[in-house]
Amino acid sequence: MRSPGEELADLAGKGLKRSLRHLDSPQGRSVVLHDGAELLNFSSNDYLGLANDDELKTSFAENIHRHGVGSGASRLVCGTLDPHLELEESLAALKNTEAALTFSTGFATATGIISGLCRKGDVVIADKLSHASLIDGSRLSEATLRVFAHNDLNQLEQRLKWARENTDESARILVVTESVFSMDGDRAPLEGIIELKDRYDALLLVDEAHAFGIIGPQGRGLGSEEGLDHRIDLQMGTFSKAVGLSGGYVCGSRVWIDLLINRARSFIYSTAPSPALAATITDALALIAGKRGDELRSALWARLEQFSDETPASAIVPLIIGENEAALAAAERLQEKGFLVPAIRYPTVPPGTARLRLTFSAAHTEADVEALKAALADLT
Ligand SMILES: *Cc1c(COP(=O)(O)O)cnc(C)c1O
Repeated sequence: MRSPGEELADLAGKGLKRSLRHLDSPQGRSVVLHDGAELLNFSSNDYLGLANDDELKTSFAENIHRHGVGSGASRLVCGTLDPHLELEESLAALKNTEAALTFSTGFATATGIISGLCRKGDVVIADKLSHASLIDGSRLSEATLRVFAHNDLNQLEQRLKWARENTDESARILVVTESVFSMDGDRAPLEGIIELKDRYDALLLVDEAHAFGIIGPQGRGLGSEEGLDHRIDLQMGTFSKAVGLSGGYVCGSRVWIDLLINRARSFIYSTAPSPALAATITDALALIAGKRGDELRSALWARLEQFSDETPASAIVPLIIGENEAALAAAERLQEKGFLVPAIRYPTVPPGTARLRLTFSAAHTEADVEALKAALADLT
């Protein structure tokens, strides 16, 4: 039998062993490591700085008193409480879809949707850089998984053609992409993808994990920004990034949502999220869709424009380094200078493209970004 120790040593030898970083502070603009070092944080996905927001903390505390801490059962048994339905209604209203469904995490959302809608004989066609949860959902479904080169519409069309020729009439063909890619921060060519999926009569799932809250009117996402959201069959995202809390969602037409309630195993066989959490997400969505959300988005985009001469596509800025050890060394030097910036390695990104992944937040100040720029210039 393979020993766990040998496996870990093998990972360490390749510069791929990971370990947990212990923080002694709440999430925020700066964080305190367990060893006492205070670092400016350019590594979280808390893009609007809401994870430790006073207004949301008050709301969470009140919601605990009103609704309780636990939901007690899965949604289909007796765990569907008022806050869950209110959240789904307000989300569908915000996204202008017939219906919405929420899950405990974005990961569970992706695996639940794809494995719930597809089965053997179907085809899932995914962008090569799709998040692990989308790939795992495809594998779970037992559908044939074909990937297309990142943002490559020609290859997507080849895959669609292949799928049409190699499936029977009842088969589902599902195209999967992120709107903003998690490790590169670039955007998908949504319009081209939608034209192709329409031409080949396929379905489209767009994961807005890194766009929801920060892109588009009221932070509704890239689909909304480009006026294409009504042409996307299933829009998913997470409450764990810009929304500052945790959980996942999917929005779409009533029939697709009803089917997911019946088929998505990560929804059916999992206890409903805490009702206090669900109610606080509803409050966070109102905040994000309103005036304060607009102010936070303006602050975030101002910091991003300050950082880079190019027009920023998202709150994620990758600095590709190449080898694992070099990326780790760069992250370590930044940490010595007082910045928390993660080195991202295989298998999260392809081999040879290890990188620093900078993420920005509305909570950062102008001075924070100037200091980061100086520290990075000093690295080279
Ligand atoms: C983070 C992420 C998820 C998972 O969401 P969680 O709520 O963190 O489980 C899914 N898809 C993409 C693209 C992500 O970046």
